[in-house]
Amino acid sequence: MSVGWLRACALVMLGLFSVSALAKDKTAIVIGGGVSGLTAAYELQNKGWQVTLLEAKSSLGGRSGMATSEWIGNDKTQPVLNKYVSTFKLSTTPAPEFVRTPGYLIDGEYFSAADLTTKQPATAEALKRYEKTADDLARSIDDPQNPAANSTLHALDQITVSNWLDRLNLPATARQLVNQQIRTRYDEPSRLSLLYFAQQGRVYRGVSDRDLRASRLVGGSPVLAQAFVKQLKAIKTSSPVSAIIQEKDGVTVKVGSVGYQADYVVLAVPLRALNKIQMTPALDAQHLAAIKGTNYGWRDQIMLKFKAPVWESKARMSGEVYSNTGLGMLWVEPALKGGANVVINLSGDNARVMQAFGDKQMADQVLIRLHTFYPQARGSFTGYEIRRYSTDPSMGGAYLAFGPGQISKFWRLWERPIQRVAFAGEHTDTLYPGTLEGALRTGQRAADQVEDMAAGKSFEPAKVLPAAAASGAAAAKKGNFFSNLFGGSDEAKKPEPVKAPEPVAPPAPAPAPAPVEAPKPAAAPAKAEPAKKAPAKKPAAKTDVKKAPAKKAEPAKKPAVKPADAPATDAKAQ
Ligand SMILES: Cc1cc2nc3c(=O)[nH]c(=O)nc-3n(C[C@H](O)[C@H](O)[C@H](O)COP(=O)(O)OP(=O)(O)OC[C@H]3O[C@@H](n4cnc5c(N)ncnc54)[C@H](O)[C@@H]3O)c2cc1C
Repeated sequence: MSVGWLRACALVMLGLFSVSALAKDKTAIVIGGGVSGLTAAYELQNKGWQVTLLEAKSSLGGRSGMATSEWIGNDKTQPVLNKYVSTFKLSTTPAPEFVRTPGYLIDGEYFSAADLTTKQPATAEALKRYEKTADDLARSIDDPQNPAANSTLHALDQITVSNWLDRLNLPATARQLVNQQIRTRYDEPSRLSLLYFAQQGRVYRGVSDRDLRASRLVGGSPVLAQAFVKQLKAIKTSSPVSAIIQEKDGVTVKVGSVGYQADYVVLAVPLRALNKIQMTPALDAQHLAAIKGTNYGWRDQIMLKFKAPVWESKARMSGEVYSNTGLGMLWVEPALKGGANVVINLSGDNARVMQAFGDKQMADQVLIRLHTFYPQARGSFTGYEIRRYSTDPSMGGAYLAFGPGQISKFWRLWERPIQRVAFAGEHTDTLYPGTLEGALRTGQRAADQVEDMAAGKSFEPAKVLPAAAASGAAAAKKGNFFSNLFGGSDEAKKPEPVKAPEPVAPPAPAPAPAPVEAPKPAAAPAKAEPAKKAPAKKPAAKTDVKKAPAKKAEPAKKPAVKPADAPATDAKAQ
């Protein structure tokens, strides 16, 4: 065989190899190492993409909570979460029966739902009435993916939840408990769109608390985040993205002066964080308005630690316990961290009024309140951990909670990619925002969209029926819609007279924090100095990431800025 012929064969082979190498070399950058970004990166990597995940903080997992033992729903209610729990073989334990339904702490006294019926029948009755009316409201929505399907439903987006609650005339204690439940799950009722509340009610209609608290994920949601981290080949922590530049055939992502290039990007950061990333070309006015205007609920978590349970016979005070007196929603942590710990969740305006407090002051305030009900609390106190999601600028709040008028403007906006960027994050899920299930779903969706974009698919805006064009058919079908809304029902006997609603008010700006139930700074007794006994302890870093082989640590494809000013690349999080 001639040398020329051999050379020609070699060139053909080389050509084939480089073509196949090129064909495999599909690159993506995922921005944000919360559960949604980790999912997108994992799914893309499984589809054969070369993925680099960039996370602003030094640890991964984002908002995944501080509970050492996350409550999770069963397969029926949280199928995606359960799928990953089983893929990664994470440990779960069945939830004990007493945590599976909510409890109440009324002026310091603990009541299970059953207790309430016998010991506080007026409150129990009022809560039932509220639940029934809320269910009627949820029932008015046919399709939770398109909640503003007609003009009547569209009008609900202009009303706040507190507006609606006012007309139910609940007795004071019941109203306090309902307010607490709503602000824990979403945000302060006065800041929440009634349509969003109804839509979420529709999504969870018929789902029992028992199914939503079927088991515990041992170690909490951080173990789920770590399971993804272990699978990923290229993660860079402490890498806050400052700019995304989209070009015809690729995207450049900037971390300070360092640039990374890829074919596609998944942007999995909350809206307030997105506000700090410069996009070229710029986002349109609607997206910019959504970034600035979409309401986030507020929720902070303070874990108070004690040598022994101070709640004595109330050791079963677990599950979600709603208080009517400045302790928000609380639960007793399983003793995985040793001692006896109670997690206090302050939310809505109760969290907002605390924003000026330092961590220690905030923990003191909560301890003082607990001490009022449990006099051993101060003596047994050993320390605290705190997570303040609300004041963290990279989060800007706990989770999405549409305010009045916002569904009409921003519904499903982030489901659609823009050029080469797909969006993920709990706030981009239509059905389960504010949950792990929602975050996981969006990571999967964004990974699929990247594949679709690579295959040449273009994305049209989600079609939502314009309210004005829609007929009032849904309302007509349900009889007197507003009578259902304000306490009646055509499926069941009407238990009480129905009040006609006042004309719908235009969306109002979120009111100032309501002082009524907000915890006021309480003076500590002179000798009480809890913080000295137990120095403030920040939660331990959530990640303990293995080092990966050096070759996997390369920045995606070609760094736009050559290594002179680039930091040494790290394979996984440092
Ligand atoms: C107090 C609280 C309790 C909760 N309880 C539950 C519960 O019991 N059950 C449940 O299912 N869900 C619960 N959730 C909700 C759940 O934790 C979240 O929905 C989920 O963790 C959100 O994940 P995410 O990926 O959308 O966002 P995040 O976790 O916020 O991830 C976004 C990531 O992006 C990073 N980032 C931001 N800016 C940049 C940048 N410029 N460059 C690079 N990275 C950046 C952030 O640091 C963060 O790590 C709770 C949330 C809170 C706050």
